[in-house]
Amino acid sequence: MTISTALMINGRSLKGEAGTFAVINPATGQAFADCPAASKAQLDDAVTAATEAFKTWQHTPDDEIKAMLHKIADGIEANADELAEIVVNEQGKPLALAQMEVGGAVAWTRYAAELEIPVKVVEDSEARLAELHHKPVGVVGSITPWNWPLMIAVWHVMPALRTRNTVVIKPSSLTPFNTLRLVEIINEVVPAGVVNSVTGESGIGSGMSAHTGINKIVFTGSTPTGQSIMRSAADNLKRLTLELGGNDAGIVLEDADLDKVAPAIFQTAFLNMGQTCAALKRLYVHESQYDELCQRLAALAAEQKVGAGLEPGVTFGPVQNQNQLELVMELVDDARAGGAKILSGGERLAGEGYFYPPTIVADITDGTRLVDEEQFGPVLPVIRYSNIDDAVARANDNVNGLGGSVWGSDIQRAKEIAMRLECGTAWINNHAEVLPHCPFGGCKMSGFGVEFGEEGLLEYTAPQLVSINRG
Ligand code: NAD
Repeated sequence: MTISTALMINGRSLKGEAGTFAVINPATGQAFADCPAASKAQLDDAVTAATEAFKTWQHTPDDEIKAMLHKIADGIEANADELAEIVVNEQGKPLALAQMEVGGAVAWTRYAAELEIPVKVVEDSEARLAELHHKPVGVVGSITPWNWPLMIAVWHVMPALRTRNTVVIKPSSLTPFNTLRLVEIINEVVPAGVVNSVTGESGIGSGMSAHTGINKIVFTGSTPTGQSIMRSAADNLKRLTLELGGNDAGIVLEDADLDKVAPAIFQTAFLNMGQTCAALKRLYVHESQYDELCQRLAALAAEQKVGAGLEPGVTFGPVQNQNQLELVMELVDDARAGGAKILSGGERLAGEGYFYPPTIVADITDGTRLVDEEQFGPVLPVIRYSNIDDAVARANDNVNGLGGSVWGSDIQRAKEIAMRLECGTAWINNHAEVLPHCPFGGCKMSGFGVEFGEEGLLEYTAPQLVSINRG
């Protein structure tokens, strides 16, 4: 596998002026390649390039932009094997899941290509014609996390391009290479300066959120970083989309069909080893179903083959990084010390990689760190309830509000309960499902703004009302 190790600024491949940093393969715990680190001056260059490119890019006709986005999707498809392998090496997920991520990147790019930017006629009368148009905001700064690095980069960049903005993207330093390669692929299609990449910590992310040449930041990551971005975005009143942390609750009703829901709950709680913003992270189960469902989830956990993502037959990869692994271990140890029962997993696997098996924790309740905090890893606390109003209150008693779910056979009742959940997406008999046409975002401390669909597209635009006086 060749790894692209160059920044892309104004259409040129560059070394980082701030040196390099090592990127670790979570399956080995060892560095596997060095990534260039951009200097602050290179960030300025990237913003200048994007500002210059915007002057012409903003006038590109719709059909040309659509054709370019499809060409980018072709480029991602043509390099799918390489991109999937990069994702496995730096992120850790099993190859099949990385291939799914690349497939999602293609699908989302093609979907963004086909979206129309609406013009709404607000009034068409003898007095006036008033139309609401949507114009690009200018330079968009994209800052991405390490869990679904390629997919999230695509979620940020493609709608920004479709709406005629230019972009400076900074990937997580834990998973930078897929994005550097993606930006190269994009630069084979778009003019120089339209999409630029910068990397590294040392103030590059905060430099972006404070940069007065950037008009909007789209950020996916933790809530504290989102808060910091919001503070430093104030100087030029940057537009913000903040997709932040979640601690999604799922509620299993008395009438849930466990044959169906147990595998689906397992899948949506442990998607990407639980490192998914909208994974199911706290499960409230009616007492009549509690023991049986716990047993089934533990059996599903025991069936997983844990190992390196490129090993054949592996279904469950490592945790992405040492800090996250330590948090997971700490939360499980704290739960154990508090009297919770570990039904599967519960101990780090021996060896160099960051392997932690899927872990089901029972006899636990609210007020425990594992329930109250976002674990963002391969462990699910299962909480018993007897009264549905109490379960809804406990589900809502959390600062986060990303997703939530209700699992049951009486769909009307499940829907009524789901609509009482304080969250951006309420699923019924499902969880963590994101689709290109369904607006997705959080409430409360999980952020604001949505991605996907027309609503997500318009987040990259500024409204302009054009009013023609006919009097
Ligand atoms: P993180 O906040 O640590 O890092 C995200 C990005 O922000 C990285 O690129 C990082 O370099 C950059 N960054 C760090 N400090 C910064 C600063 N002061 N200013 C600007 N940028 C800065 O998050 P993470 O650990 O990479 O990701 C895990 C978190 O992301 C979890 O909480 C998860 O729930 C959340 N997440 C949310 C969504 C969503 O759609 N809501 C999706 C995926 C992940």
